[in-house]
Amino acid sequence: MQKEVQEINPLLEEWKTPHQTPPFREIKHEHFVPAIDAALNEAKEQVDVIINSTDKPSFQNTIVALEDSGEKLERVTNVLFNLNSAETDDTIQAIAREVSPKLSEFSNYISLNDQLFARVKEVYGQKEDLNLTPQDLQLLEKKYLGFVRSGANLEPEAKKRYAEITTELSQLSLKFGENILAETNAYQLLITDEKDLAGIPEAEREAAAQVAKSKGKTGWLFTLQGPSFTGFMKYADNRKLREEMYRAYTSRGFQKNDKNNEEIIRKTVNLKLEKAKLLGFKNHAEYVLAERMAENPQRVNDFLSQLYTASRPAAEKEFAEVQNFAEINGLKDPLKQWDWSFYSEKLKNANYGFDEQQVKPYFQLEKVREGVFGLATRLYGLTFRENKSIPVYHPDATAYEVYDQNSTFLSVLYLDFFPREGKNGGAWMNDLRSESKINGKDIRPIITVVCNFTKPTETKPSLLTFNEVTTFLHEFGHALHGMLANTVYPSQSGTNVYRDFVELPSQVMENWATQKEWLDLFAFHYQTGEKIPAELVQKLIDAENFQAGYASQRQLSFGMNDMAWHSITEPMDGDIVEFEQKAIAPTELFKPVTGSCLSSAFTHIFAGGYAAGYYGYKWAEVLDADAFSQFRKNGIFDKATADSFRKNILEKGGTEHPMKLFVAFRGQEPSIEPLLERSGLKN
Ligand SMILES: [Zn+2]
Repeated sequence: MQKEVQEINPLLEEWKTPHQTPPFREIKHEHFVPAIDAALNEAKEQVDVIINSTDKPSFQNTIVALEDSGEKLERVTNVLFNLNSAETDDTIQAIAREVSPKLSEFSNYISLNDQLFARVKEVYGQKEDLNLTPQDLQLLEKKYLGFVRSGANLEPEAKKRYAEITTELSQLSLKFGENILAETNAYQLLITDEKDLAGIPEAEREAAAQVAKSKGKTGWLFTLQGPSFTGFMKYADNRKLREEMYRAYTSRGFQKNDKNNEEIIRKTVNLKLEKAKLLGFKNHAEYVLAERMAENPQRVNDFLSQLYTASRPAAEKEFAEVQNFAEINGLKDPLKQWDWSFYSEKLKNANYGFDEQQVKPYFQLEKVREGVFGLATRLYGLTFRENKSIPVYHPDATAYEVYDQNSTFLSVLYLDFFPREGKNGGAWMNDLRSESKINGKDIRPIITVVCNFTKPTETKPSLLTFNEVTTFLHEFGHALHGMLANTVYPSQSGTNVYRDFVELPSQVMENWATQKEWLDLFAFHYQTGEKIPAELVQKLIDAENFQAGYASQRQLSFGMNDMAWHSITEPMDGDIVEFEQKAIAPTELFKPVTGSCLSSAFTHIFAGGYAAGYYGYKWAEVLDADAFSQFRKNGIFDKATADSFRKNILEKGGTEHPMKLFVAFRGQEPSIEPLLERSGLKN
């Protein structure tokens, strides 16, 4: 009988690409499921060796062995889930749906294994006598707590129920995100009468015409994707169409169709409550916050209300200003949600003579990228070299090799800037591989930064809005956290830190966006080559603080809504909008619009990892404003300050409690004052 030639699965082979990057060109959809099955088997065998060991449990043969298992599984699933965010299609989505329960099942196999837990517990019991380094000790404590928090101490019945809940939650979360992606792509506003474009700047028109053309349509096509939607809301004179866009955007996941997320929300919060109760917590927020810098819901709620009080008077004043401005400019009806961006933009222009379009010519994407790379060179001595032989998952993505100050290779970095249909909205950093030095290896990180920036057109290069520039800096800050990681264990590496600490490295970078000293290095007009004028930068700063109170209220409304959903102590079967309104009412400045819903598209908490964690953005703002005040004091390129930030924060990942790391850098605990000062909210 002829022997069947076994087809090679590139996901399972050793990657012979530069720096062992994923061989994207060879990876086909059909490779994923068999590769994940095989990698799951291998990971299970590795874990079984630990479980079935007859040796006395030790830190090395149990804790480190566990940390070092499943490397291949990690590698393959990282590729899959990165693609599912950045370059997905129906098949990839179906694969993600198919493998997610298997992955939860495996993670439950570990976390609910009595024999394994017994071994971990035994090592944990001797922790004082093992002479462990702080990193080792942290690893041991986290592993032990990981088991306990995943139900290892539960009775058999409860343990079974716990596993069911986890599986169901992961499916609900995927479905929630898919519904939003589908709803975002489903809506199109095709304009065929040029009159309806009144107010919309040339660049936005051109982009819309290109979208229309790419879909075989004549006219101008606006969508619910980032730049298209926000541009339209800001500029379109046609109020009816703005209303239509607004309603389409805020009814995603809330329409009477098969993409409705209401039941998913109820199921999700109720299952999370049930899970928290199984583990002995009052609610999901208590359970989550036990492992956060903030530590408990009371502290979070106090924090939110402290900021609420500090920013409310400014928000009310700003609201009245816009309302008044709109009236003067001929708005007869009361101001509505779809008028806010429109009149705010004009008010901003009137007050500061500032128009976002004025700065865009200075922010040509390629120059901004050079500026961002250059900042990393000045602060941390990093250099970046494009390497075209590193495979990419889409032609729009570019791969760089990153070198440290002594020219040693540090990391691979992919940058992927432009929107497309298979890409989720927003911007994010991800790792395809985390840094680690476990068991003497030297694993270098592979990092991706994915954005949805304004595309170049036939006549113009990609010119970024200021918001896009700060987004770039933000995600690049996360990337630095991943690239500069210097830890032994992968689970403590880079961005593997408490959620309310993870935004410090990203948000601190945004502070450079308004520093003339930095802008002068790259922000040249793409046609004339002149430097960005000082008064324009000042206007940028003023504009940044324009409506700081309103922006703060909006962030707080997300934070409060999130806390409300995860603080329920009884199952919820009521009306979604009624529930969220109760939670966010104090922050509202408009009357709610019928048919609109915040929660039904709140992917951060229902399809991401931010449940009971959205406050973390504001929390991190306090941290970043305080941290940057140190740079401001010592010089924004000060090497010693940067070194300290690198050594104490970026390299340390999750090896120590965040407060300890922060104090090591700053010399004191963070205060709310620098944030209030920076945003002009200090009286
Ligand atoms: Zn972030």
